[in-house]
Amino acid sequence: MKMVYLLIFFTLSFNSYTRETKETQVNLTSEKINSVLKEAHAKFKGVKEGKNADYIPALAKVPSELFGIALVTPDGKVYEVGDVKKEFSIQSIGKVFTLATVMNESGDKKVRENIGVVATGAPFNSITAIEAHEGKMQNPLVNPGAIATVSLIEGDADSAWSKILGSLSSFAGRDLKVMEDVYKSESETNTRNKAISYLMNAYGIIDKKPEQALDLYTRKCSIGVNARDLAVMASTLANGGKNPVTNKQVVEQEYVKGILAIMATAGLYDTTGNWLYETGLPAKSGVGGGLIAVAPGKFGVATFSPRLDEAGNSVRGQKAIQYIVEQLGANPYDVQPAAEQLAE
Ligand code: GLU
Repeated sequence: MKMVYLLIFFTLSFNSYTRETKETQVNLTSEKINSVLKEAHAKFKGVKEGKNADYIPALAKVPSELFGIALVTPDGKVYEVGDVKKEFSIQSIGKVFTLATVMNESGDKKVRENIGVVATGAPFNSITAIEAHEGKMQNPLVNPGAIATVSLIEGDADSAWSKILGSLSSFAGRDLKVMEDVYKSESETNTRNKAISYLMNAYGIIDKKPEQALDLYTRKCSIGVNARDLAVMASTLANGGKNPVTNKQVVEQEYVKGILAIMATAGLYDTTGNWLYETGLPAKSGVGGGLIAVAPGKFGVATFSPRLDEAGNSVRGQKAIQYIVEQLGANPYDVQPAAEQLAE
């Protein structure tokens, strides 16, 4: 009998020992984060796969070798490696934060009813996805849903724009500006987004002038950020909507879980499922080469590297964040079984 108790005792101690080892990994020290970021940068800086987006001509000119990684924890500590100060256009990553702007202003009901929160299973600028459900059954992270989201902001074009820029700046914790060359380049070539805007208008989802919604959307895509800004923005979502660097509540906490859910289902275009399988984290990519991921309660991480895969996601960025998530034990689906409880 004594032996049995002894065995149970050892089994339980071992279980709690392995749990603790795992938890120590999750309980991130600055040293650990710094070394993992450096490793990720060194490991993947030689990756040459993919290529810059070129359907927006200004993006093709961005030096492809740039590579930066930044991570911010809820206590406001910023970790950086590589080209973290270099500005690039936020592109689709901005969709997350215009969504937050709309929810903060008008609640989430409008977004759910008018736009939807389902993965379309189609490319981000798909016209057939609009046709399939007469403009409904979209989400705010694909172009039709994102342009419609912008159109929900109250007021005329000028006041809507200052809300967008003000809100994104609050997420980043500094005054952001439009990269005029990108804005011009995209405005001159965005015929497909024009078609999407008019079609969404025809289905009554975009009720304002579709040109106005499209212009706000295009300007938003052209906002300049660096990897550090994006990590602060991501960490604001990881921290219940409060920017951990400025300590300002930027979006009401109640909307954050919904925003993260949409990122988890639709953040990386058609390959979101693969991403979620690898990392378990909500994320969003942009064709400017940025990528953010959010480990709720733990950190926000961002990368910048312009070469994209076929789906439009930064190749090095995905590899780097996958590595960081793995090394920091940040996949929320990866848990140790609980220790067995002794029956009363
Ligand atoms: N401005 C780009 C577009 O609408 C954004 C695409 C993206 O980053 O996914 O085509």
